[in-house]
Amino acid sequence: MDTSGIVLEAVRKVYPDGTVAVDSLDLEARAGEVLALVGPSGCGKSTTLRMINRLVEPSSGRILVGGTDVMGQDPVELRRGIGYVIQHVGLFPHRTVAQNVATVPGLLRWDKARTADRVAELLDLVGLPADTYGPRYPHELSGGERQRVGVARALAARPPVMLMDEPFGAVDPQGRRRLQREFQALQRELGLTVVMVTHDMREAVLLADRIAVLSRGGVLEQLGTPEEVTGSPANEFVADFLADFGEAPAA
Ligand code: ADP
Repeated sequence: MDTSGIVLEAVRKVYPDGTVAVDSLDLEARAGEVLALVGPSGCGKSTTLRMINRLVEPSSGRILVGGTDVMGQDPVELRRGIGYVIQHVGLFPHRTVAQNVATVPGLLRWDKARTADRVAELLDLVGLPADTYGPRYPHELSGGERQRVGVARALAARPPVMLMDEPFGAVDPQGRRRLQREFQALQRELGLTVVMVTHDMREAVLLADRIAVLSRGGVLEQLGTPEEVTGSPANEFVADFLADFGEAPAA
């Protein structure tokens, strides 16, 4: 059964100042796929992503996660079931790595033993052995390690869906490549449905099953596999966007 796909139907967001960030977007992330949202700065990528977990309230249209309309759910509950990873990962600085990863289990009132097991499992999963890293504080980690902790924290309650906004943007280039590959392995292993915002076409080609190219106002210019988008751009906008990436990445 398809329980974790995401469907956007005629979704629109007008901010209070009148900015039409997303005009009328229809889009689907199928269960188990990585969908990358790419496009120039200000085209509505983050707004689109943040409407899925209701950090931004849609002005109209419908968003279904696992077949359920997000507007019918309590936003806090909704967010506990959807992993969210952002560029500057926002770890709690005065909590240890283990405590950071245990945030959602704590909110869900898991008992201590179950939480500790899950934290150890997750830290191992992202390559940070719990014995070494669990007791550390965020300032004692490298940027890449912090990002891994962010991913572990987002995975804590086994969400079937992850939203990621420039998740590897703050990591140095060598570290980023490794982290991307590790994330990909993890995503496949867990069968996660992922919507990822990136301004980096290379990252989209590397990680996404399908790429949605957006232009200003959240207009969907093309939706396709990396091969389709890079091999046959649907129009001039997409071709120009790809051209900005120089030796556009081979899919
Ligand atoms: P992207 O992620 O593609 O860079 P955003 O979704 O952040 O784009 O922004 C889309 C548009 O909405 C931009 O014009 C941006 O300035 C505007 N915008 C974003 N957040 C707000 C806000 N809180 N209030 C008003 N306008 C906003």
